[in-house]
Amino acid sequence: MKPTFCKIIKEEIIKNEKPKPCCVDAFLAAAVYSVGAISIENGIATTELRLNPQLVAFTKELLDKKRIEYRFIDGKKPCFVLENCEKLLRELEVAGDYNGYMDLVEGIGEKYKNNECCARSLLKGLFIYGGSVKIPYISELDSQVKGGYHLEIVTGSLFLALDAQELFAEFGFDAKTRSRSGTQLLYFKSSDEIGDILIFFGATRGMLDLENSRILRSMRANVNRQSNCVNANITRAVEASQEQIIAINCIIKAGKLNEFDETSQKLAQTRLENPEATLDELVELMNKVLSKSAIYHRLKRIIQKVDEIDASNT
Ligand SMILES: [Zn+2]
Repeated sequence: MKPTFCKIIKEEIIKNEKPKPCCVDAFLAAAVYSVGAISIENGIATTELRLNPQLVAFTKELLDKKRIEYRFIDGKKPCFVLENCEKLLRELEVAGDYNGYMDLVEGIGEKYKNNECCARSLLKGLFIYGGSVKIPYISELDSQVKGGYHLEIVTGSLFLALDAQELFAEFGFDAKTRSRSGTQLLYFKSSDEIGDILIFFGATRGMLDLENSRILRSMRANVNRQSNCVNANITRAVEASQEQIIAINCIIKAGKLNEFDETSQKLAQTRLENPEATLDELVELMNKVLSKSAIYHRLKRIIQKVDEIDASNT
């Protein structure tokens, strides 16, 4: 299955990330904020970090850098169990001492707020552990553009959400907040801002994918417009023909032309031999076995086939 855009982005962030010692704390704190289940009994704390498999190696590296002992339980949702982790929670400023009792700190620890690298790492951490991102995609069914731009980060509490919103604001990002079924979330909708955040997170390749999706979206709109007035404008007809020829060559190269019926194969051949021919002329060249509309739809199907080949190659 093709990995989602979100998965690709997280992969890139994790791959590029070489956290400084101070930022190791920021990432671990983000993991605890996002996926940590903490229990404190008689001053003894246990924390469970239940993760997506994608994040196991990265998290293990963080824990090893901090020389933290853990039990690892593998499964669909792998889990690190940190026993007697009071010292760690205090160091991460996830927990503090109140009147002689240890309790959780509300919101993001002060030490991350006052340090630019740590603030950035913390926000990145909140995204990889508790966030997701989506961009529009071309449906393979009807070649239409589906979905929109959306980046969100789920945080357990309102305090965390508000603190994270403030940190984002310090970097010039305007996160919106809302609650959804008992959790609090931060989100962004503008494609410009999401692009800037991906760069801020260190996902520059992902940023290029996002740019491509924007270009593809406007190109697709142009192509659709072209197809609709193919008779009205000869230049556009030539452009459409070029697109068809590129598509046919691509299908031949992929060895997939024989997946079409004989008539379509004949049509593809005729198109290759007659790049200037209008749809009306193709009807004649095909000895009228196809109507103009049938030719149009079959050529459109040929262009769609290239999207399918592209999709299965990535
Ligand atoms: Zn730092």
